[in-house]
Amino acid sequence: MTNKEIFLTGDRPTGKLHIGHFVGSLQNRIKLQNTGEYDPFIMIADMQALTDNARDPEKIRNSLFQVALDYLAVGIDPAKSTIFVQSQIPALNELTMIYMNLVSVARLERNPTVKNEIKQKKFNESVPAGFLTYPVSQAADITAFKAKIVPVGDDQEPMIEQTREIVRSFNNAYQKDVLVEPEGYFPPKGEGRIPGLDGNAKMSKSLNNCIYLSDDAETIKKKVMSMYTDPDHIHVEDPGKVEGNVVFTYLDIFADDKAKVQELKDQYQKGGLGDVKIKLYLNEVLQGILKPIRERREEFEQKPAVVYQILEEGSKKANLIAEKTLQEVRDAMGVNYFN
Ligand code: ATP
Ligand code: MG
Repeated sequence: MTNKEIFLTGDRPTGKLHIGHFVGSLQNRIKLQNTGEYDPFIMIADMQALTDNARDPEKIRNSLFQVALDYLAVGIDPAKSTIFVQSQIPALNELTMIYMNLVSVARLERNPTVKNEIKQKKFNESVPAGFLTYPVSQAADITAFKAKIVPVGDDQEPMIEQTREIVRSFNNAYQKDVLVEPEGYFPPKGEGRIPGLDGNAKMSKSLNNCIYLSDDAETIKKKVMSMYTDPDHIHVEDPGKVEGNVVFTYLDIFADDKAKVQELKDQYQKGGLGDVKIKLYLNEVLQGILKPIRERREEFEQKPAVVYQILEEGSKKANLIAEKTLQEVRDAMGVNYFN
């Protein structure tokens, strides 16, 4: 292993990746990867995806390949980053079980992101135990690699905090500094959580309100043209609202020409600028960003064997590292009776 600082992050294979992932997390990973100062680990979290999709393993299986394609398409480079599959690293499960005893149920129930997701997913009274405890398994993922940095979107902040608490509890309980406290690495303010096309607070694979990195030009245009704007902006001459208007939220994030966006905002607020015009501009901006990504994606899609080999090799390498950490954890606890 190198002495470079390790960063770890990942995605649940519950669907293809979308432009929320792109700004929320992928861009930061690529930036860090390309500085050459880090040893990046990027995980496809299939075990975590099963916590709310246990009865649909086929979806996870298919999405695994799709997420891998998205990674390669946006520029995650297997020569610089280790891409691996969570379920192929058994040590992660054992670490999860060990950490589970250091966390209270009440603490898990207080996690604001999990709370939100439970509501969204309409589990009602039957939240799967695996789902409630997935932040613990995330702590296992992060600590197994002794990652110092975790580049993620804003919704992941509570998970990082939970991991830090577990690290402190562990090191304190067993009187050894085995585990490393990670820090979140978040996108610039205002870009950490991309809202959905429908105005929902978060674009999310599970909510069906996304523009995917793999969408073709026509689909992108159709989605943009049907986006949520200002429901009270009925006639072109009406003054419109910019706050909460998702088209402007996206323009703020994706358009390079900030002066032009400001001009459009001023005009929209005064009245006399129709939704169609701002949507056509957003369409143009997004098409420019997504075209090269889509083309690279199509190339890799033709070579599934190459893609799976990248995952297999990455998983082998990741396995060795996680095993080593697990051994240190067992040693610290004295759960090593036959050594
Ligand atoms: P699911 O609905 O299955 O949970 P998801 O769309 O939330 O899927 P995840 O795989 O849970 O995606 O998240 C992967 C990473 O992408 C995390 O770092 C998360 O913070 C980030 N992310 C997800 N959605 C957004 C978004 N809308 N805006 C910014 N970042 C996001
Ligand atoms: Mg999520």
